[in-house]
Amino acid sequence: MRLDDEQESQNIEDRRGFRVSKGVAGGGIGGIAVILIALFFGIDPSAILQDNLQTNVEPEPSGQSQQAGARDEGREFVARVLGSTEQTWGEIFQRAGRNYTQPKLVLFSNQVQSACGFAQAAAGPFYCGNDQKVYIDLAFFRELHDRFKAPGDFAQAYVIAHEVGHHVQNLLGIMDKVQTRQRRAAEREGNALSVRLELQADCLAGIWASFANRERKILEPGDVEEGLNAAAQIGDDTIQKRAQGYVVPEGFTHGSSQQRVSWFRRGIQTGDLKQCDTFAAANVS
Ligand SMILES: [Zn+2]
Repeated sequence: MRLDDEQESQNIEDRRGFRVSKGVAGGGIGGIAVILIALFFGIDPSAILQDNLQTNVEPEPSGQSQQAGARDEGREFVARVLGSTEQTWGEIFQRAGRNYTQPKLVLFSNQVQSACGFAQAAAGPFYCGNDQKVYIDLAFFRELHDRFKAPGDFAQAYVIAHEVGHHVQNLLGIMDKVQTRQRRAAEREGNALSVRLELQADCLAGIWASFANRERKILEPGDVEEGLNAAAQIGDDTIQKRAQGYVVPEGFTHGSSQQRVSWFRRGIQTGDLKQCDTFAAANVS
């Protein structure tokens, strides 16, 4: 990726190195509960959008935190990608006569307290609708490379843009509508709704990439392939196969590899928001 022209976002909240204990934080939901909620209900009523990518993040040895003055490439990368999404979504909302409220992005290490509850890094990056914040432990990018076999900077950017896609859904009231329907739905239908919401976030990630590339040429050869590979590696069938050796389609909450690739690609190739209506599309079951 070429990020030289992307402004660094001012909306990074750096909570790395903070110790959070459940006792101090006043309870909340544990990492395991978050994972179970993601697996069985898709999305819980407290509006957490968990991306279901359980990882094996090792606790950071103490004293290894960022040294003053040293360049923090991980943070800089995230800030530029987030800044790029702010630019793109700001313009898209403005053209539609609406105001884009920028989300905050919280960098944390190991565990974090959000308005959606307490979460462990092992549960993967997530978006919390209650505080309009994206949460990510940068160690996840190493997992993405090593365990999910999804290397490359555009693969990482896709993860951030997908979470920002959930924020866009939140601003547009889509998240709310889906959650209201899910509360009345049986588990299977709830999961199917979750899949549509997640695939739409993939498509919205593609819309960002398309716009930013058209205006500021952010994509380099191989980037799109990196992103599509990442979408494939985190498809529900691929994750299930890796974790348990077999696939249970009724348990999908994010979409199959093929679906995720297809919706992300659709966003990148068309740059057209109208193409991201996963709720109307008959081919999403
Ligand atoms: Zn998601």
